[in-house]
Amino acid sequence: MEDYIKLANVIFPNITKTIDDLEKEYPSRNLPANAEVTRFAPSPTGFLHTGSLFTVLVAKKVADQSKGVFYTRLEDTDTKREVEGSGEELLEQLKIFNVAPNEGYLGNHEEGIYGPYKQSLRADIYKVVIKDLLMRGRAYPCFCSQDELKALREEQEKNKVIPGYYGKYAKCRNLTVDEAIKRIENGDPYVIRFKSLGDHENKIEVHDEIRGDLSLSQNDQDIVIYKSDGLPTYHFAHLVDDHFMHTTIVTRGEEWLPSLPIHLELFESMNWKAPKYAHLPVIMKLDNGNKRKLSKRKDSEAAISYFLEDGYPVSAVKEYLYTIANSNYEEWRMEHPDASYDEFTFSFDKMSLDGALFDLEKLRNISKELIGKYSKDEMTEEMKKYTKVYDRNFYELILKDEEYFTKIMDIEKDKPNPRKDYVTYSEVFSKIKFMYEPYYTELMTSSPLPFNPNFDKELIKKILLEFVDTLDLNNDEQTWFSSLKTLANKYGFANNMKEFKKNPTSYIGQVGDVAEMVRISLTSSKQSPNIYYILKILGINEIRRRINFAISLLN
Ligand code: GLU
Repeated sequence: MEDYIKLANVIFPNITKTIDDLEKEYPSRNLPANAEVTRFAPSPTGFLHTGSLFTVLVAKKVADQSKGVFYTRLEDTDTKREVEGSGEELLEQLKIFNVAPNEGYLGNHEEGIYGPYKQSLRADIYKVVIKDLLMRGRAYPCFCSQDELKALREEQEKNKVIPGYYGKYAKCRNLTVDEAIKRIENGDPYVIRFKSLGDHENKIEVHDEIRGDLSLSQNDQDIVIYKSDGLPTYHFAHLVDDHFMHTTIVTRGEEWLPSLPIHLELFESMNWKAPKYAHLPVIMKLDNGNKRKLSKRKDSEAAISYFLEDGYPVSAVKEYLYTIANSNYEEWRMEHPDASYDEFTFSFDKMSLDGALFDLEKLRNISKELIGKYSKDEMTEEMKKYTKVYDRNFYELILKDEEYFTKIMDIEKDKPNPRKDYVTYSEVFSKIKFMYEPYYTELMTSSPLPFNPNFDKELIKKILLEFVDTLDLNNDEQTWFSSLKTLANKYGFANNMKEFKKNPTSYIGQVGDVAEMVRISLTSSKQSPNIYYILKILGINEIRRRINFAISLLN
């Protein structure tokens, strides 16, 4: 024992704090009995992944609904993989989604008394714990070089045994303390490994909040807990942090499930109570009929920024992620169409075990419904926010005459079943740009206008002129449409399709054909939002100008 203490002091001569000191520094949280403490612990290695946002939603929900705490911690001990600035960006994105915590690493600063919340600033805390393990002979320095480890792996592969540093393969485990000290004093590079007492032939019973009781092989790997750069590995760092930050449930991706026995043995070695664990299903994608993981490299929808750039409302993305989080969510939504998703009670046992399938079509539907429900003013605000970041030209255009833009956003909003014109904000511009110059002129002149060739150009001109001359914008929609029918009848068009089909030889077309002539003249296209509303917004002068312009193009 004394030897171990000597070794621990050679490795960490300046670490004088003890575990007890840390326990006092980071006392238990003062929370109600069933309050859960959850966290989001990203590594600053890139963008916010869709799977990470999913994890955040779950973690935050579990904390909120139990009146607990949700905090963030930056896991930046893998300095080689770090992407400059990505920690701050991750936090920015959490803010956009309204799921940023009020404790922990918050990008440019931190809040809370359990910090620092950035692992690279916690090196001394980890050292105290590692020193404790060293003093008790549960950790040891390992001097094996990369080449030696590679040779070991090759030998294990050849002999078809489980790879890794364990049991008889854990060479440095058997070094005497004196030998180890000699090598350290000699300046030999080393890492520190955990000394496992497990045996992979034995099973341990573990409980996962989502998967229930599981029987897994005991850990026997002497994993690296402290790297030669002075920082711990994830396995060890998360353990120390979740203990001293008093996490009660670790919610993380299922890719960590196989390491659970390591983590549980580490907790046991410290005599600490392990938190509960919930390993969330990975988000999958159908690719040529096969299910596979959503891939950071291959799939644009793997990055949350994709949804923001494309202009999906934040609430639509969250709503969609709830549908994959809990199997009863959609039923709840149908029963509570107007409630906020914050009112939904999440439960781990309603989470599907299979990888949740990412369904873009479903998200698009949710988005379309949601955008359809926005009032004209909400829509204008959303569009301003979106275009300010992603489409500056359009943003300027909106600002030039906000009232005009709001009127466009109001098209058909007063109807009991308003048309759902937009799936995303990025679609809006292309659908309404005809309402603006120079886009109208550009659209009208960039390709031949799609007037129906069955009708004589002179007839079209005559109808258009008479249309504008007889137009009364004070009429309501129905009266307006009746007068359009009168005009159509005058030139030999049937009142509606049915009548035309019944007697095709008596008419040259039907009222829809006349409406189409007007539509093309005003918008350049056969498809547009409700023409009556467009007329009202454009006003008589602009209508006249556009009709005349269309006529000039017919020559
Ligand atoms: N830093 C780990 C990751 O990004 C966190 C896993 C966890 O939540 O414990 O995967």
